[in-house]
Parts: sequence; C-alpha cells; structure tokens
Amino acid sequence: MENIKDLKSLLSVPKDIVLTSHRNPDGDAIGSTLGLRHYLEQLGHTVKVAVPSDFPGFLGWMPGSQDILIYDIDKEDVKQALEKADIIFCMDFNSLDRIDKMGEIIEPLKCVKVLIDHHLYPEPFADYVLHDTTASSTSELVHDFIRLLEDTEKIDLNVAECLYTGILTDTGSFKYSTSPKVFRMVGDLLELGVDDNRIQNYVFNSLEEKHLRLMGHVLNNRMEVLHEYRTAIICLTKKDYEYYNIQRGDTEGLVNQLLQMRDIVMAVFIHEQPTITKISLRSKGEFSVQEIAKKHFRGGGHKNASGGYSFIGLRPTVSKFKSILPEYKEALLNNDF
Ligand code: 5GP
Ligand code: MN
Repeated sequence: MENIKDLKSLLSVPKDIVLTSHRNPDGDAIGSTLGLRHYLEQLGHTVKVAVPSDFPGFLGWMPGSQDILIYDIDKEDVKQALEKADIIFCMDFNSLDRIDKMGEIIEPLKCVKVLIDHHLYPEPFADYVLHDTTASSTSELVHDFIRLLEDTEKIDLNVAECLYTGILTDTGSFKYSTSPKVFRMVGDLLELGVDDNRIQNYVFNSLEEKHLRLMGHVLNNRMEVLHEYRTAIICLTKKDYEYYNIQRGDTEGLVNQLLQMRDIVMAVFIHEQPTITKISLRSKGEFSVQEIAKKHFRGGGHKNASGGYSFIGLRPTVSKFKSILPEYKEALLNNDF
C-alpha cells in the first residue's frame, strides 16, 4: 500500500476523478465527498461525485449537491464516469459490496483507488488508504487529508460547509465520537464563515408534519421495551410504510430516540424494504453492536452504530434478534455509560 501523502505528486497534474460513497448516503457521505470535490476542483481536476442511491432532501442546500450522479437514476453516466476516471475515491464505506453494482464496476478497474473511511475492518482493495476508526466522521478525515497535503489554506467556505455538515450529522450534533480534535476543527470551520445555526436548521429542523405523526405512531404503537435486556425495539411493516407514505430517509433518527431512555443500552430498528429486511442498531458505552451486526445480520459499522440485513422477512428477523439476546445479556446488564 502506498503512502497517502504520495498522492500529492499524483494530484499535481489535472486528472479525471470520481468520488463515491455508500447507498442511502447520509450527511457524512455527501459532506465528505462534496467537501473533497470543492478542494480537488481548486487544484484543477475534473471531479464527479457518484453514489448508488438518492440522498435525503435536507442535504439539497449543500454546494454542489445538484450535480451528484445517482446510479439508480443515471446508470450509464455513472458507469462512464467510473470507467474514464484516473482516480476513484471510496469514501465513508470500506468494502465494495456496500455500493452494490457500482462496486462490481469499480472492482476490475485499473485506475488508482483511494479509501478514506472511519468504519471498522476495511477491506484491502485500495492503493492508498486514510483510515481511522477513532475519527468522528469521514469528513474529519477529509480535513486531515487536505492538511496532510499541506493545503489547509484551500479549505474555503464551500469545503468548510460540507465538512461541517458531515461532522455535525455523524456525531449526532456533537453527542457521539467527539474529541478535542473535532471541537478544534469545528472551531476552525466556523472561523471560515460556516453559519452553524443555519446548517443545524437545514439539517435538523426540516421535518414535515407527517414525520412527527409517524414518530408519535411509532413510539406509541411500534415500540417494544425489553427491560430484562435493557433493549428497545421498533419495527415497521410494509403497511406502515404505505399508510404513512414513508419515503427513504423519513425514518432517519427514529432508532436514536430509544436511547433517550435512561436504562436502555441497545436500540434496534427493524423494517421491511422491497427485497430485504433492514436492521439498524445503536448502543451506549462499551457495548458493541458492531459484533451483532456482523455475526448475525451480514453487516457492520461502528461500536455504537451499526446495521445489517436479512432475507427472512420482518417477523422472523425480530424473532431471530430476540433469540440472540441471551448471548449478550451479561454484557448488556454490566454496561456502564
Ligand atoms: P444505519 O443504521 O443508519 O443504516 O447505519 C448505521 C451504521 O451502520 C452506518 O455507519 C453504516 O455504515 C453501518 N451499516 C448499516 N447497514 C450496513 C450494512 O448492511 N452493512 C455494513 N457493513 N454496514 C452497515
Ligand atoms: Mn460516516
């Protein structure tokens, strides 16, 4: 594997570059890719951002978001961009199966591949790697990357707004994976003119009436609290999706609500998508949901936020989840946070 700093010479000549991130892109996926794009464009490169599926509307204000290529919508454009690229950056994910068909296209390509990511257990497919699981976000790592290349002065307001958004969303408004470094970095971004209040409003105060009604319904009728395991579960059926006209992204953040209960250590959200049953896991303190996602639900992620899926339908997935709880009972009960 090459040294990430050696990219500086590679980037000293204009290149065709594609920045990719994961399916169902979140604030960090979009923030880190667009932030890096604004930086690379200043160096004279031709840069495209491509993701497998659409991003939520509350990120639509971000500079450059209107040009993002979405594989589900523009298959040919994404394929052509990838095949033409001299360099492909894989950002905020670390195994090519997280980007579905795009991963199959990228895998055999001979171009230079760069990984920038903060999830556990990266797969060794990239030539250059900037990987740190202690980082709050991939956006934090993009800031590190630009500093490593000794280009800190190229962090302009566009770059800063994008990176701030990624840090803001991946830390859940500075609640998780914070560090003195993150707060210093955010201070630097605010000094560049980032309006944190405006961005917080765009990102967090942009719900519609139906979202609050859905939350009320979910907490009242679809929440199960298993006190003996300090675990709470929400599950939503396809019928719920139809009745509340739930779109991709509408359920964002629901699972975190459960952690607001004092005694709850693990929060789980299980819902039906067209072909899979998706599971989202969150935890407090040292209790790791990453292991559960990886071992039982084909997934992974971070210690306190992971996800996975199954092909066995909603009820069987809930039953399966409940059946593994005794294995973790001791760790759940002994968890201090
Ligand atoms: P969410 O629950 O918000 O979908 O995802 C939480 C975290 O788990 C994210 O950091 C995401 O990368 C990871 N994650 C979610 N779904 C999967 C999956 O199917 N496979 C893997 N490896 N990670 C996932
Ligand atoms: Mn992230």
